[in-house]
Amino acid sequence: MYRFWLYIEAFRPNYHLFDPDIENYMELKEAFFQQLPSSAELYELARIVQFLTEIVQWVSIAIAEVFEVAGDGMPSETGFALFSAPSVILQMFKDQSGAPLLALADPWDGSIGEEFDFIKDALSVAFKTRKLSEPVWDSHEMKKVILDEYEQYDRPLHADWGLLKGHLPPHVLATSMIGHLPRNPYETNSLYEYLYQLTLFFAPIMSWVFDKKDDSDQYRDLSPDDWIFISCLLTFTQSRLHLWWLDRKRTEGMHIPLDDCWYGYNCRTQIHRYAHAAKLNHLCAPTRGDPAY
Ligand SMILES: [Zn+2]
Repeated sequence: MYRFWLYIEAFRPNYHLFDPDIENYMELKEAFFQQLPSSAELYELARIVQFLTEIVQWVSIAIAEVFEVAGDGMPSETGFALFSAPSVILQMFKDQSGAPLLALADPWDGSIGEEFDFIKDALSVAFKTRKLSEPVWDSHEMKKVILDEYEQYDRPLHADWGLLKGHLPPHVLATSMIGHLPRNPYETNSLYEYLYQLTLFFAPIMSWVFDKKDDSDQYRDLSPDDWIFISCLLTFTQSRLHLWWLDRKRTEGMHIPLDDCWYGYNCRTQIHRYAHAAKLNHLCAPTRGDPAY
């Protein structure tokens, strides 16, 4: 960690004197890494960079505020956050806000676009110079590089459901319902607006879908504290999200069209005719043949 601080101090760009040719310092950065006495230290430093990147990405996705979130859901220009300081990143996570970073500089002032490779390119060269293969970031081995031992994780998993927000922010979840509902603007817009107001919206959604689970369905053996892949957990949640949304609308006294569309969530007309999408309820299973196929 001390070496990472040193790297930040040495190579933090000074935008008042911004000149890409001078500011890049690639050779000096490589020299910095070559001076690390052991490859183990290089791995440690790389792992710290990766850990901080993950935290910044979580905050960015969760609040959709600090960085523009690209189509694949991953924020760009993470390098900008990395050269602030680890304490700033910790504060972002604690506050669940981009404010600590934005207080330092404005990522939209146009001068920082090149800083995506603040450290990663130079690190990558350092791995090659030492003939080391680039690490598999998600592996347990890499995580152990900066942890003396794994802590036994004994909090019940459902206590942390709120943290899923950093994986699926409101605008993505709102377009993740079953069938053709993601392209129904009437439902997705109102769901987005509703989710956006809830700080940790995943917790109530997940409790609801687990509560409503019945013994006949394919997820009957799934319990709230099972360790499963996040993609499986989200698939399970998304398959029931429209029912949760219908229930919320009812509870909150929001308008629900009186009649169900025969084709339910598979209706194609809901995609291109707003009046149809608003006139009939599509948060239901199809009762007639699916016109989509
Ligand atoms: Zn319809």
